[in-house]
Parts: sequence; structure tokens; C-alpha cells
Amino acid sequence: MPLIELRGVSRRYTLGEIEVRALDGIDLAIEAGEFVAIMGQSGSGKSTLMNVLGCLDNPSEGQFLIAGQDAAQLGADELAALRREHFGFIFQRYHLLPHLDARGNAALPAVYAGVGSGARSARAEELLQRLGLGDRLHHKPNELSGGQQQRVSIARALMNGGQLILADEPTGALDSASGAEMLRLLKELNAAGHTIILVTHDPGVAAHAKRVIELRDGRVVKDDGTPTGHAASPVHATSPAAPAHGGWLRRLQVQWREALVTAWLSLRGNRLRTFLSMLGISIGIASVVSIVALTSAARSTFEGEFMSVMSGKIWIWRGNNNLPPGAEAPSFRLAELDALRSLPGVAGVQGEQQLPVLLRHRARDANLQARGADADTMRERKLKVDAGRWFSAWELAEGAQVLVLDEQSRKALFKDSESPVGKTVMLSGSGGLPDATGATPNAPLPFVVVGSVKADSQLGFNFGNGNAYVPASTYVQKLDSRPSVDAFSVQMDFKLPPDEVLRHLKHRLRALRGAENFSSWSGDSEFRKMQNFTAGFAALFAGVGAIALLVGGVGVMNIMLVSVSERTREIGIRMAVGARQGDVRLQFLIEAVVLCCLGGLVGVALSWLGAQVLGAVQDTLKVSVSWGALGVAFAVSSAVGLVFGTVPARRAAALSPVDALARE
Ligand code: ADP
Ligand code: MG
Repeated sequence: MPLIELRGVSRRYTLGEIEVRALDGIDLAIEAGEFVAIMGQSGSGKSTLMNVLGCLDNPSEGQFLIAGQDAAQLGADELAALRREHFGFIFQRYHLLPHLDARGNAALPAVYAGVGSGARSARAEELLQRLGLGDRLHHKPNELSGGQQQRVSIARALMNGGQLILADEPTGALDSASGAEMLRLLKELNAAGHTIILVTHDPGVAAHAKRVIELRDGRVVKDDGTPTGHAASPVHATSPAAPAHGGWLRRLQVQWREALVTAWLSLRGNRLRTFLSMLGISIGIASVVSIVALTSAARSTFEGEFMSVMSGKIWIWRGNNNLPPGAEAPSFRLAELDALRSLPGVAGVQGEQQLPVLLRHRARDANLQARGADADTMRERKLKVDAGRWFSAWELAEGAQVLVLDEQSRKALFKDSESPVGKTVMLSGSGGLPDATGATPNAPLPFVVVGSVKADSQLGFNFGNGNAYVPASTYVQKLDSRPSVDAFSVQMDFKLPPDEVLRHLKHRLRALRGAENFSSWSGDSEFRKMQNFTAGFAALFAGVGAIALLVGGVGVMNIMLVSVSERTREIGIRMAVGARQGDVRLQFLIEAVVLCCLGGLVGVALSWLGAQVLGAVQDTLKVSVSWGALGVAFAVSSAVGLVFGTVPARRAAALSPVDALARE
């Protein structure tokens, strides 16, 4: 059985109206081990025939059999496998990949056979050494002479075995000495059992072959036929054995590595372009990471600090802004408070000991809020001692005339340089100090300042004037012994939603008091407002992020399409040496993903910087870029790369090898 057989093969090109018959009814049989020259003038169809023989191109008509198998029955991957495992191409213009060195170029076919890089390099070095290029292993094609480049392409043809070597004008671009050397090598390979098909327009070159087939206008006009006595010879070892091919897992691993390295080289080769196309992705990812960081920071800050104090409580105090000027809202009677205790959702009602007072130290006056305090007040209001101390147990129990100032009240009464501790201040009620009968004898009382406190929380929640804390016992005995309070807090039992409890409270209080002459504040509703605010913020960022990612993705797609058309020849070369369509697709997809992930990394760096800046200018929100955010960034970038890399990758994979190779 002939190694190769053509039966009535034609190849037509249609250029608009005109039809070109590049091949026109070729019948041909070539045995294994032959050395055939295909000769003819320029335009006679030699290259077209060569492309058909090499399974780079399909005939328009007729049958093409390889070892008895009809090539038309083979799928793209099977044809790729044939090229990879059995064919070796040598082109007039060498067709080496410019960014790979001699060794990398020679080893390329083994990449697609799934051979590991160590075995690949060893074999490539051995072949190059035998071809006299032992000292040129790491030279790029542009650092090699024509003859040297052509020898690299021979090494590449032999990499996986190269049973059938297809050489299209291999001497065409060489000087005569290099050309002669080339022919000597081809003869040597033929002697070692390789089948050689050599295309040339030069009768002098053709004369080196054992059989000459002449083409004219796509037809065979002369064929010597297989030399009599030719014994079809199996290939025997002319060269070190081709490395063993790996299993599918090994192949996958080799593919991925190669695709990553290629992607990296190509991106590095176009730095500015890479940077610019990364930009959109970077901005998008920066937004995405910022959302994650900011919302989680906001949540932990508000939920942790704010809600630990505020949750479950509603504050109610007398008076509000809607009262007519001069109208005085009455205090809450203890009976009113008792009436509220029985409302649904209410766990308890606690009168607030607070009273507007006037404090005087030397010539300074300050309108402040006197508050009854106990041992738990510091913890509840998130205070820490700034100077002096908190009340002693004795002072708390015995109604001592001592007080602790907060930051605001200390500043109102004392100079910054002056320590308030140990000083005596005079306290009087703004409207007099009411006693149990409601009378207001206005006798200022001396109080000794024992300490000052300041907020221990990032969230100060002091409204209105500064506070002057006095022991609760002192408050009742000396400041306000009325059976009524100006403000109180309601603890909820969480069996009803806070808003509903608040509605019940207001309704009942209005009924009891005959008018809405009070105000209320609920930590939970405030928290909900804050949550809505954060959610709005997050949505804004998400919108910006999504748009930036979309624009960035389109940019990446655009750049990848440009890259595909720029690298058409490279794709053709890879396909000629046996890359499957899937390999090419993978390569470009990985390149898009790598590009996007690089952009994502820059984006993460940007948001990290942003977090540092935010941390430097304020300390309410503790924003940090977490590993979770990094994971999200990586996942999103990869997804964008996959989505927007698909079109370019498919386009690359769909290129026909012969068209791709024809492109210069
Ligand atoms: P040779 O290699 O012998 O110089 P080719 O096989 O390259 O000849 O070309 C044979 C004929 O087919 C020529 O007339 C050429 O113009 C035509 N041809 C080759 N490739 C194409 C193509 N891709 N599209 C249209 N015509 C082509
Ligand atoms: Mg040609």
C-alpha cells in the first residue's frame, strides 16, 4: 500500500468571478521511503499540492489517502495528530517563531504531543547538535543565518519522528553552499528511512531526488514513477528516539504551562498595550474589591460598636420642634412610664436621670446636662477615664457631691492646659433645682471634679450639650427628687419589629398626654438608615465596577482580536506542527485570562492603596483588603477573561492552517 495516494485531486480557488484551478485532477502514489521532487514553474501548483499532502489544506475534489486512510474522513484533531506525529514541514521562509530560541522552536511539536519540558529540551538539543547548531541553542531566529534557521526547522520536523518530510522550496532562500548542505541533510534523512517530498522550481535541486514529478498548470506532466526495486522501508533510528508521549493529564499540564509562558511572553512583548488594556479591568476590580472591603468594614463597625450599645433601645424625651415657641412640655410622670411597660414588645422602661444645669468654674459658665451615673455607666456609654478617676463605691452609695466631666464639658469649663481634677465647680439648675414638691430653690451647690472621661468608641453618640456625671444617689438627693423624668429609655423584647414597638409607644403616649409633646430616637431605625446608606454606596460602587469591567472586557476582546490577526502566522505554524484547534483556543483564552488577572492584581493594589489612604485620614471605618476580596477579584477577572476571550480564541482556532501560513 502506498504511503500517500491521490486520486483525481483538484483544488480550486474562486477569486470573485474567476476560478483558479491550482490543482487539476492529480493522480499520484508515493511509497514510504521515497525521495520525490515535485518540480514546476512558479504558479504551477506545487505549494498547493504540498499543502494538500501535508493535510494543511483540503482538496476540492478527488480522494487523498494516507496509508490507505481517506483524509476526508479525518476530523481536524486527527489531521493535527497526523501532522504532529508523522509529518515534518520545512518551509522556504523557515517559519520559526521569533520569540522562541532555536531550542524552543525545535521542541515546539513535542509541546503538542504532551512531552515534558525536560525531555523536550534534551531531545531538541540532541537534534540541534547533530545538525551542527550545538552552540546556537539559545539564539533567536533573527540571530541566526538563513542556513542555520533552516537547520532549526529540520530539527523541528524531526522532533516527533518526522516519518514524512515535506519541504517546500527549502533551498529557495539560501545561498548555494547552505543549499547544498540542506540537500545533503535531506539525502541523509532519506537514507535513514524518512520519506522526503521536496518542492522546487530548480531542476538542479530536483536532480538530487530519486524521482521527479513535474507539474504544469495544476497537472502532472511528467512522473518518473517509483524507482524499480524500491523497497518501502520503515523508518529506522536516524536520530535519537522521539520522546515518549505523555498521558492526557501530562498533556494538559504541558499545554497549560506552554500557554501560560506564551501568554506571558506576548503580553511582555507589548507592554504599553498590555497596560492600557488592563486599565479598565483594574478600575473595575478596584471597585469590586472596594465594595467588598467597605461594606464589610461598615458592617463590622456599625454592628460591632453601634449596635452593641444601641440595639433594642428606644429613647424618648420631652419636648420637640413642633411645639409652639414658649410652650413647655411636661415631664413624664412615673404612672405614664408604668402604662408603657405593659405594651407589646416592651421588656422594660427606665427613667433617665438627666437635667439641664449650669456649671461655673471661676469666671466660666457652661450649660450642661447633669446625668445620674452608676458603676455600669462607663461600659454602657463606652467611656474611658481620661484624667483622674471614676466614682468610688462610697461616692456612688452616699450621695457625694462629686462629678466627672466628659470631654465636651471639660473643654467648656477648663482651659486645655488646666487639669480639672480636684477643682471645685458650682452647680445650679438652669431653671432652678426642683425638689420633691416641684419647687425650685436655686441654691448653687459645690461639686468636686474627680475625673474626666472621653469616648472610647469611634462613634460618639452624644447629642446636645456636654455631660457632667454625678452619682445616681446624689442626683436623686440633691438635683432632682421629683417623681417624674424628662427622658426615659425603653428596652424592647425583640418579639416585635422595632418600628412597630415605636408606633405603639407613640400612640399610647399621645393618648396619655393629650398631645405629641415628646421626641423619640431608635437605634435600630438609625441602624437601618445607615444600612440603606451603605447598601446605596455599595450599589453605586457595583455599578461603576460593572461598567468598568464591561468596558475593560470589551477592550481586552478588542486587543485580543488584534493580537489574533497579528499572530496569524504564528497560529499557522503551531497548527502545522500539530497544535489542535483546542490548543490554539486554550492559548488565547489563557492569554485573555492572564491579561485580566494582571489587571485584577493592579486593581487590588489600587484598592489596597485606597484602604491605606482611608485609614490615614479617618479612623471610624477600619477598611482592609481581605483574602476574601482577593479571591473575589481573581474570580471576577478570570470570568471577564473567559467571557471576553472566547470570541478571539474561537476566531484563532477557526483559522485554517494554510491560510494562516500564507499570511506574512
Ligand atoms: P507554486 O507553489 O507552484 O508557485 P501555488 O501552488 O502557490 O504555485 O499556486 C498555484 C496557483 O494557485 C497560482 O495561480 C496561484 O495564484 C493560485 N493560488 C495559490 N494560493 C491561492 C489562494 N489562497 N487564493 C487564490 N489563488 C491561489
Ligand atoms: Mg510555491
